[in-house]
Amino acid sequence: LIHLDGLTKVFETEDVETHALSNIHLNVRKGEWVAIVGPSGSGKSTLLAVLGLLDTATRGAYLLDGRSVLDLSATDRALVRNRHIGFIFQSFNLIGDLTVFENVELPLTYRGMPAAERKQRVERALEKVGMAHRARHMPGQLSGGQQQRVAVARAVAGDPLILLADEPTGNLDSKNGEAVMQLLTELHKGGATICMVTHDPAHARVATRTVSLFDGRIVQDEQRR
Ligand code: ATP
Ligand code: MG
Repeated sequence: LIHLDGLTKVFETEDVETHALSNIHLNVRKGEWVAIVGPSGSGKSTLLAVLGLLDTATRGAYLLDGRSVLDLSATDRALVRNRHIGFIFQSFNLIGDLTVFENVELPLTYRGMPAAERKQRVERALEKVGMAHRARHMPGQLSGGQQQRVAVARAVAGDPLILLADEPTGNLDSKNGEAVMQLLTELHKGGATICMVTHDPAHARVATRTVSLFDGRIVQDEQRR
């Protein structure tokens, strides 16, 4: 599903070059749950941003579902991102002046989906994460754990090819963190392909595979099942 070949990302700031990712080769099959681990600055978020087409690479190839996506125009890349990629961030990133329902609906609206289908999908996604009863609330009226569940609903409402999560439990207490991990486990059982950055070794062990980064390189790739 994901095929990275010699992927390199160099940031140039003034006269300093940072090799955030160096010659990454990675294949992720449908249904895998990959934990991405490594020390601070090792390139985890950069890798997720490239996978999510939020950023481009300096060199190398990225095939998503067989299609080369790095040489697309910015507009086409945005279309692929909106259609095929679901994001969950550490800081939830919900829009504060939209209701829970509207937050989950927004990516579907961007995609041009008809209102009736949007409504059905949003309701289904909110039910999946146990937040249907909060559809009319504003994000500020929810706990952090509830906000992250809404963010999960937003990420999966459009049936993405891949789900990308950068420290999805990083801002949550352990109880809410476990609830989010439980949701991801259910999505994984339902066939979702997940790439998740985490600092928590226990959370990494729940994934089916752990990819370890160090200085922008993959130094270990452990398949568990
Ligand atoms: P953390 O665990 O702290 O979140 P990370 O593994 O996610 O770290 P990245 O954010 O991917 O690390 O950063 C990798 C390297 O690239 C770091 O050295 C960082 O300083 C550099 N970097 C990241 N983004 C940029 C940018 N926009 N401009 C310049 N350098 C950057
Ligand atoms: Mg990071």
